[in-house]
This record gives sequence, C-alpha cells and structure tokens, in this order.
Amino acid sequence: MGRMLAAVLYADFDPRRVYAVSREEVTTRKVREGSNVWRNPKLTLEERNIPKPRGREVLIRVKAVGICGSDIHMTEYDSEGYMLYPGLTKLPVTLGHEFSGIVEEVGSDVVNVKPGDMVTSEEMLWCGECLICRSVDVNHCTRLNDPRDLEFGELGFTHDGAMAEYVVVHEKYLWSINPLLDRYGSEDRVFEAGSLVEPASVAYRAIFNRAGGFDPGGYVAVWGAGPIGLSAIALAKAAGASKVIAFEVSPVRMELARSMGADYVFNPIELERMGIQPWGKILDITGGWGVDLHIEASGVPELLAQMEKSLAVGGKITWIGRAPRAVSMYPEVFQVRKGQIYGSQGHSGWGIFRNVIRLMSSGSVDTTKMITSRFRLNDVSRAFDRARQRIDGKITLKP
Ligand SMILES: [Zn+2]
Ligand SMILES: [Zn+2]
Repeated sequence: MGRMLAAVLYADFDPRRVYAVSREEVTTRKVREGSNVWRNPKLTLEERNIPKPRGREVLIRVKAVGICGSDIHMTEYDSEGYMLYPGLTKLPVTLGHEFSGIVEEVGSDVVNVKPGDMVTSEEMLWCGECLICRSVDVNHCTRLNDPRDLEFGELGFTHDGAMAEYVVVHEKYLWSINPLLDRYGSEDRVFEAGSLVEPASVAYRAIFNRAGGFDPGGYVAVWGAGPIGLSAIALAKAAGASKVIAFEVSPVRMELARSMGADYVFNPIELERMGIQPWGKILDITGGWGVDLHIEASGVPELLAQMEKSLAVGGKITWIGRAPRAVSMYPEVFQVRKGQIYGSQGHSGWGIFRNVIRLMSSGSVDTTKMITSRFRLNDVSRAFDRARQRIDGKITLKP
C-alpha cells in the first residue's frame, strides 16, 4: 500500500455551553454547526495510506484543487478559539472539494468511469434514497445532514477530500471533464478548468435551476465577486444579459469581474464616499428600470434593502451568500413590483454539472482567469496564509 501527502484539519471537540449538542453528535462527531463545537483548528500536512476503492468507489489522482472560502473559514477561529465555519463538519478531515483529477483505480462494481478518465466531483454526498432526495431535491438530502449517518455528508467537510495526492469518491458524484480537452488543449489547463466546475455549478444552480433564469437582454446585478460571484457574472453573460452590474470591494476581484464580462463594476464603499447608493447607481444605469435578476453572492444580507430598491417589475432575487443573522424585508416591494426571492443551496442534480461542463467546453463560459495563485500541495500552509489575506480570485493547489 503506497503512501500519499494529505492536508488534514484537526480541532478539539469542545461544544460551547450555549450549544445544545446532541448525543449523536457526541458519538459520531458529525457536527451540524462547526463554529459551535470545534476549537483550535490546525491544518497539518501529513503522510497517509493511499485509500483502496471498494464497491462503487473510485480512486482519483488529484491534479488541481481550489481553496474555497469555506476552507479558509475552517482554519480561522474567533477570540475563544472556535472555528469560524458554521456548517456540517466531522474532524479530523482532509480538506478540498473543488477539484479535478484522473481516475487511477476503480472498485469492483464501478460501471460509469474507468482508469485514465479525467473527472471532477460534486461536493454534496447525497443519498438519493431518503424522502427528500426522492421527492424534493438531492441538495437537501436528509441523510447528508443527519449526525447519525456516517455514509453521507460533504466531501472535504465530513469525508476526506482532495487536498491530497489521492481521493476516493463514489462514482455517482463524478462527472467526466474529457470534453474540456478540445477547448483547453493542455491537460494542465483542463484540470484547472475542471477544478472550477463546482463553484460555477453553485452559481448555475442559483441562477437557472432555482430562479429560472432571466430573458436574454435582461439586466443582472451580482453582489460580491468572489469565485461564486465571478462564475455568476460569466454565466449571466453567456445567458444573454445585456448589462451585468457587479459590486465588490477588493480591487483584484473588481478587475476579475471585468474580465468575466461585467459591464459595470463598482466598489460600494467608494460609492458611499461619493454619497451614492448602489441602488441609485443601478437605476441610473438601467434608465430607471432596475435589474431583472439580483444575485447575492457576498454573504452580506443587509444588501437586501439595496436589491429591493432596484428590483425591476417582474424581477427576481436569488440568494447564495450565507450569514448567520436576520435582516428586515419589505414585502410590499415584492407585491407592487411582482418580485420573487429564491434561496439557493448546493449544486447537485438537475444536470447542473453536465451543463456547466458543456458551457465550458463550448467556450461560452471560461472562468479560468480567476485563478490568480498556484501552489504545490507541499506548500499548503503558505497557500492558506495567502488565502487568509483575501487578495486573490482563486488559489489552486497542485499535488
Ligand atoms: Zn466551496
Ligand atoms: Zn437523501
């Protein structure tokens, strides 16, 4: 059995007194709210055995893996030492869920992939059998979230992920990225593009699958130009938006927003300094019409008020950014402007990965420009130090 390098996150299991930890969470350590339980997170690079794929599992040699905002939050902590990431987690775990690689070995019952295939993977390890999966949506799988259930969860959060030389994934979550080869030429570029399918799928899910998209020619505003917002800009342009208006505070990301196709990019803090509100800017640019689709990808829920004031009649808001706090809403706007708001979570099912890969292989969407730093897996701690400065579009690790 060979050995491999893996970037493993450790932390102490020490539930806050205010958190009602369940007996199941104590037993399995599969925890619903990471920020209320895990203390003193520490990322270490270590040697592990290369896992053996069984049944329908697939062993993938990782070629590129992105550092996600969630990964950064998992390594950061508050004044009491508690991890900032608020979601589902089971530590220790190898991080990494935005990745691509090449199939190295398949379990005995695998039917859909074979050694040598280039693949990417979904991050949500849904069951497909619970009542929610069967009757509503795999992105809300009950077993994925159930602390008693160790079979399902999230890759790189509850199950060892791809910041390693190898990762094992059940074949039902895998998608071929072989079609990207014609578009990107070199394998290195294909794997970089492949590692960006997951974040683009999160944006695709919100815009098209949840909100039902917008008519070609429509006006779109994107709030926040991190990797999800940048993907949203590229997708909105591909879908025929006549004006995409982006709001972002980081200069690097503002520039990337332009390169993804945004027609207007504003720093809301600078606008405010000039006494201009973002909603006013939107009405200016759209001749008073407002935007047909607002995409929230910043995690600042207070922006809802800006969206309400600049919503076109018949307009929609789709919500991706997460934040653990309530804000007020003015429902009247949704009545008089025939508005709708859609919450969006996940990226699985509905042909989402397939369609994103098709858009990338046709050249309609190219998000590879957002990769602004590359590190070897050996350098993972330096890569995270840089990630915590939040000056990049996307940082990509290559084993
Ligand atoms: Zn992510
Ligand atoms: Zn399920």
